[in-house]
Amino acid sequence: MPFWARSATGPVMSAQNLDCGGYCRDCGREHTLAAEPALPLARDLLAELERCGGIGPDPRLSLDYLYGPARGQMFGVLKYRDEEGNQGALKAFSGQYNGLWHVAGWVAPILDAAEFARVIRFDEPRIKDLTLRMRGLQEIDPLRLAMLAQRRDLSRNLMERIFTLYQLTNFRGQTRAMAEVYTGKAMPTGTGECCAPKLLHHAAVHGLTPLGLAEFYVGRENRSVTRRHGEFFAPCAEKCRPILGFLLCGLEERNGRT
Ligand SMILES: [Zn+2]
Ligand SMILES: [Zn+2]
Repeated sequence: MPFWARSATGPVMSAQNLDCGGYCRDCGREHTLAAEPALPLARDLLAELERCGGIGPDPRLSLDYLYGPARGQMFGVLKYRDEEGNQGALKAFSGQYNGLWHVAGWVAPILDAAEFARVIRFDEPRIKDLTLRMRGLQEIDPLRLAMLAQRRDLSRNLMERIFTLYQLTNFRGQTRAMAEVYTGKAMPTGTGECCAPKLLHHAAVHGLTPLGLAEFYVGRENRSVTRRHGEFFAPCAEKCRPILGFLLCGLEERNGRT
């Protein structure tokens, strides 16, 4: 039996609210999407991953990756209704999987991977180089402190440019820059890469009406041991809630609610 299956005791359901939601500035209120309709599909996906031992046939897509130093990752399922009234499901993994943005059968990232590569091409090696050069220096060495400040400025600037690559579309057909819709203070690294925004943006762009969305954790527990294999969670409060209000806007009307 593979080691990831050994720890699999089936999805662990917590008592917390798993629904997706966030405040919408345009409407001056919260928009939500229930988790419940997507839970059976999410359980099926978890079982399928455990059975297959990977998210695809390529060896780089093995679940072993989620048990290594990178640790586990969030996965999400969105149940939808298309324009003809047929139901279906979309699936997503958060961020990249083992360095890959695109995996067949899984929802694509919101950003354009080629644009992303272009944006990080010059500054990412500079940031890495500074990190390496700082290593041999004393903590209070003026040279090290100068390099530290330079690296901080480079990283902040790079992050801002990465964020401009995220253009979010909602169910009113509005498209806006992520920085414009974010309702929190400062966007953390990785904002826009979680499953919920990936799935909702994809559904909105492709004319699919979401009926439910559920997220669960797969792999070795996270460092703070707040997430374990098979556990379900609501979309995160730091990165997702501040953009979910915009992303869900217009959905209630589509579902015949006001
Ligand atoms: Zn999130
Ligand atoms: Zn709204």
